[in-house]
Amino acid sequence: MNQIDAVSDMILKSSKIVVFTGAGISTESGLSDFRSPGGIWDRFDPSELNFQNFLASETSREKYWDFYRQLWPTMVEAEPNRGHYAIAELHHLGKLDCVITQNIDGLHQKSGIPDEKVIELHGTMTRVVCLECGKKYPREQIQSRLESGEKVPRCDACGGITKPATISFGQAMPEWETHEAQKRAAACDLFLAIGSSLVVYPAAQMPLIAKDNGASLVIINLTPTPHDRYADIVINEKTGGTLSQIVDQVKAKLN
Ligand SMILES: [Zn+2]
Repeated sequence: MNQIDAVSDMILKSSKIVVFTGAGISTESGLSDFRSPGGIWDRFDPSELNFQNFLASETSREKYWDFYRQLWPTMVEAEPNRGHYAIAELHHLGKLDCVITQNIDGLHQKSGIPDEKVIELHGTMTRVVCLECGKKYPREQIQSRLESGEKVPRCDACGGITKPATISFGQAMPEWETHEAQKRAAACDLFLAIGSSLVVYPAAQMPLIAKDNGASLVIINLTPTPHDRYADIVINEKTGGTLSQIVDQVKAKLN
């Protein structure tokens, strides 16, 4: 039996699947392009865009917003790929407990998975939040203010500093999301780690929590991860094609 076949059997036997995703699933939607030479990272120093600097000076905030204003068109045009749709299919089959993601691009929701089933560990680019009063704004609304020349958008309710609702370098992990992700990982019967190198905390911890609590563990990532030895199955391939083959097999076996 090959690995695709084996994973499809594991999915058929499971009823509470947690899918964990990292950047590897979004690269096939073109979202790695801004890191390539000539891309936006060449004009901005990522280490400058950390949370402490953002809080500390108006100049940093201006740079930060300039970066996100330029990045937004790429993000908003990105579409889910066959990997995202394969995961959405698990939801339609009634097998998905939730998706836990390190990605901030909102592509799981775009692929048809309801909001309440997506736990975003690193926040989302699709909203902006006031750091003072917590008021949330749709990203589009702030983008048009930026496009019309505003450099550092302030909260219209309290005048506080606003920021994309992402977790920046140096910013604390969101408590509810981290706790919820740990809880779901502990309660699932199958944990699929997709397109994550599993080195960043708390991502690295999730597959081990699942495994320690009796779940089966499958890791699909282009390159090896530090947790491969705990996995029941490891597939070192691109995520989109692999996931769609697996879900096609699941559907074929159900018919
Ligand atoms: Zn406010």
